[in-house]
Amino acid sequence: MSSLPRTRLVIAIQKSGRLADKSLELVSSAGLRVVKGANELLYRVENYPIDLLRVRDDDIPTFVADGVADLGIVGRNVLEEAAHDPPPEVIMPLGFGRCELKIAAPEGAPFDGPASLAGMRIATTYPNLLSAYLARNGVSAEIVTMKGAVEVAPRLKLANAICDLVSTGATLEANGLAAVATILRSEALLIRAPHPIGGEFAPLADSIVQRFRGVTASQGAKYVMMNAPRAALARITDILPGADAPTVTPLAGVEDRVAVHAVCQESVFWETLERLKAAGASAILVLPIEKMM
Ligand code: ATP
Ligand code: ZN
Repeated sequence: MSSLPRTRLVIAIQKSGRLADKSLELVSSAGLRVVKGANELLYRVENYPIDLLRVRDDDIPTFVADGVADLGIVGRNVLEEAAHDPPPEVIMPLGFGRCELKIAAPEGAPFDGPASLAGMRIATTYPNLLSAYLARNGVSAEIVTMKGAVEVAPRLKLANAICDLVSTGATLEANGLAAVATILRSEALLIRAPHPIGGEFAPLADSIVQRFRGVTASQGAKYVMMNAPRAALARITDILPGADAPTVTPLAGVEDRVAVHAVCQESVFWETLERLKAAGASAILVLPIEKMM
């Protein structure tokens, strides 16, 4: 199926659920002004020719694969389960919606690697990912495909084990289950149609992707400034988490001390500051970064 020509770029996002708020946040942080109008399906962006298509997450890979949407935000779990040919292209991970697809069995059940699953009945809403995992491990087991509420299947004697998304493990625990294997680590992804976005929308799509990249990269990143003894520079660079070469500038009227500025890609904890101080740094400032390009 190929879609009709459009006059606006379309980004597919989850309408409501675990990815919905963060997806809208990303769009707003990229400078798109979203108008939540009467139309529940389409939100308009007022400062660019862009629409947000708000749908169930399961439909996002299909809309993007078919070109109904140019870009989409969806979990890796949903994208890989969808198995489109050709599949939508992954542009980048977005750093939110983290979870794991795991196999879980009743607490205390003996488990000694994937081979223990042989001959079992495993309930899941991810039959494609589960069957690929079983095949990878040369295990033959029965897959019971469910629409939801997978975690109750063992209690109802529908299955011996389940394969489901886990973030904290609280749901498993509440149902007397324990994780025994991890099939997939997932997070929200920015995806696009299998064929590059062409025509008049290409530059706009490129610029939106660059902005999303900037917002995503600046999340958690910090700008760190301090004064330090010139002799301690190597040690200080080692301590700074995820920093490229820092900028070093002389301090007026001081011979052996310099100002050090660095962008740290990872969280800067109090422990890091204490180590910097122990290495001789003083006047340490940690500032948030709003945008990066
Ligand atoms: P929809 O109505 O859009 O189909 P849904 O019920 O399938 O929604 P949600 O529960 O909102 O989906 O989860 C959306 C996505 O959020 C998941 O596919 C997954 O990528 C991610 N996610 C993050 N943490 C979790 C979690 N603990 N459990 C389930 N999904 C999670
Ligand atoms: Zn869904």
